[in-house]
Amino acid sequence: MRQRLGLPYNTRMPDVAFYSLGCKLNQYEVQALREGFLGHGYREVPFEGPADYYVVNSCTVTADADRTTLALVRSAHRANPGAQIVVTGCLATADAAQLRDLPGVTHVVDNRRKNSILYRITGLPETAEEESPFFEAGISYFEDKTRAFVKVQDGCDYFCSFCKIPYVRGRLASRDPRRILEELDRLDAHGYREIVLSGVCLGSYGRDLGDGWSLARLIQEALSRPGSYRIRLSSIDPRDTPLELARIMAETPRLCPHLHLSLQSGDDDTLRRMRRGYTTSDYARLVEGLRRGVPDIGLSTDIIVGFPGEDDEAHRRSEAFVAGVGFHRVHVFPYSERERTAAARMENAQPAEVIQDRLARMDRAARASAAAAVETWIGRTVTVLVESRSLRAGCAEGFSEHYARCVLESAEEGLRGSLVRMKVDARDGLRLRGRSV
Ligand code: SF4
Repeated sequence: MRQRLGLPYNTRMPDVAFYSLGCKLNQYEVQALREGFLGHGYREVPFEGPADYYVVNSCTVTADADRTTLALVRSAHRANPGAQIVVTGCLATADAAQLRDLPGVTHVVDNRRKNSILYRITGLPETAEEESPFFEAGISYFEDKTRAFVKVQDGCDYFCSFCKIPYVRGRLASRDPRRILEELDRLDAHGYREIVLSGVCLGSYGRDLGDGWSLARLIQEALSRPGSYRIRLSSIDPRDTPLELARIMAETPRLCPHLHLSLQSGDDDTLRRMRRGYTTSDYARLVEGLRRGVPDIGLSTDIIVGFPGEDDEAHRRSEAFVAGVGFHRVHVFPYSERERTAAARMENAQPAEVIQDRLARMDRAARASAAAAVETWIGRTVTVLVESRSLRAGCAEGFSEHYARCVLESAEEGLRGSLVRMKVDARDGLRLRGRSV
C-alpha cells in the first residue's frame, strides 16, 4: 500500500484522526470514512494528539455547533501544524469559504461529496465513488459503541422555518434498500444487538424510490431476515409516522416500542409559524393511535422555546400540552437563529433572559410528566441494552426497549453490548432500577 500511496517502503503508514460533531448521520459517515482509511492501511490515532490527517465532520444546527467546529479545526492545527485538515459536514456545506481560510485546512468537502474524501486523500482509483450522499461500502462495525447507527436516508423537503438542515443536507434521498439490508446483516454478524435506523427525515424513507418502498416496508424486510438484533428508530416527524409502525411494534419485540416524535412546540400558532404542518390536536390524535396499538409505547420529543413571536400565553399553552402528552423524555432547546431560514427574518425575537426562563420552566414541566411516565414501568420486566458497568457500584447501565435509562443492580461482568432482561423495582429520578431475571 505504501508504494501505491507513493510512500518509500521503510516509512510508516500515515496517521489519521477523526472527529464527528452532531447527529447520528454524521457519526455514521465518520464510521464509513474510518473503515475506508483503515481498510487502506492508515492508522487511526486520537484526535487530541498529532496526526498526519484530521477529518472533522462538522455541524451547523446551532451557533454553538459552528463555534465548536472552528475550535476543533484550530486544535488540530495546533496539534500538528504540518497536518492536512479535511473539514466536511454541514458547516463545510453552509460556509466553505470561512473554513478554507483556516490554517491547516487543505480540503473542505460538502455533505454530498463526503464519499469522495478517501479518493481525494489517497488518489487510489478503487476508492473513487460516484457523487452520492451514501457510501457504497457502508459500515460493518461502530467504533466504541454498543449500538450501531445505520444511515438509510438523507435530506429533507419540509423547510420548517427555523431549520437550516435542508439547505445543508439537500433534498430527500433514500438509500438502496439492498445496501441497507446487507449492512444490517454485517452488523448483526459483528454482534450488535441494537441498530438505530437514522435519517434527516427518517419517516420519508422510500418516497423517492417508488415501488412501494417505505420505512415500514424496510423494517419488515429487515425483520424477515435472520438476525438477533432489535431495531430502534431515530427521530421521526409526526407528518411521516404511520400507525403501521405501532402495528409492527405490537407484533414483534425486535422493533423497539419507542418513538422520538419531534413536536417542537405545544402551541398551534407557534407550530403554524414554524411551518410544522400539523396542529396539537393532529399530534394528540397520532399519539392516541400509537397508544391504541402499543399502550406502553415510549415517547420522547424535542421542544423549542423562545421562537420569534411566542408570547408568554403561547409558552404556557406549549408547556401544558407537553405535560399532557406524558413523554418519558423531552429535549428542550432554546431557539437558535440560523441564517437563511425564514424564522431569522421574523419579527418579535424573544430576549435571551425570557428564553432562559422558558427553558427552565419547560424543563421542569417536562421532567415532572416524564417522572410520571417512567413510574408506569415499575413492576414490569424490560430488556436493557447494557452500555456500561460501574465497578464501584457493581451496577450496569443501559436503555430499555422503551428508551428509558436503566440501572441493573449487582450486574455480572462482561454484559456490555448484550440484551438483558430486568425486573423494574423502582424509579430513581428518570431512571429505572432493577435486577436481571
Ligand atoms: S423536518 Fe426536520 S430536518 Fe426537515 S426542515 Fe423540519 S426540522 Fe429540519
